[in-house]
Amino acid sequence: MNRAIYPGSFDPVTLGHLDIIERSLAITDELIVGVLNNKTKNPLFSVEERVNMLKEVTGHLKHVTIQSFDGLLVDFAEQLQAKMIVRGLRAITDFEYELQMSQINHALNSNIDTVFLTTRLQYAYLSSSTVKEIAAMGGDVKKFVPQPVVGKLYEKYGMIR
Ligand code: ADP
Repeated sequence: MNRAIYPGSFDPVTLGHLDIIERSLAITDELIVGVLNNKTKNPLFSVEERVNMLKEVTGHLKHVTIQSFDGLLVDFAEQLQAKMIVRGLRAITDFEYELQMSQINHALNSNIDTVFLTTRLQYAYLSSSTVKEIAAMGGDVKKFVPQPVVGKLYEKYGMIR
């Protein structure tokens, strides 16, 4: 069984994340999306809200489960007997940080490797933070996030669209 973890903040999940989730399924038997419960990042959506949105937008996919975690990613992976971490790479600006994280994780647990999927060109510029900025200013986010997330974003910013 080739089980992988796709970790992230997913605050909120975007179409770029969903694309990585769908493509990961071609290289794993089972994917666990790990939602980081990182209290220092001050997220817009609570960890429960982020988990629930991911569950809703991946409901049509087999072999995907959503779980929250805190603490070290390699400990979470070990606990779930996952040997592979999936991360998305958008641009060279992601690379340095991702390279360092994958090397540190490998140093912490050499049974676990990180695999990178490069983003689809159409999502290369997309990030949860830019989507939040657009929504906060009342811009149209339909092209960037799955449909169920659109209304939740405007709700957070007290907007009805
Ligand atoms: P983190 O806080 O860990 O970076 P994110 O939720 O921002 O969490 O991202 C989770 C993962 O998804 C990261 O590997 C990130 O590079 C990747 N990712 C984010 N946006 C996109 C996108 N538009 N296309 C492909 N991968 C992406």
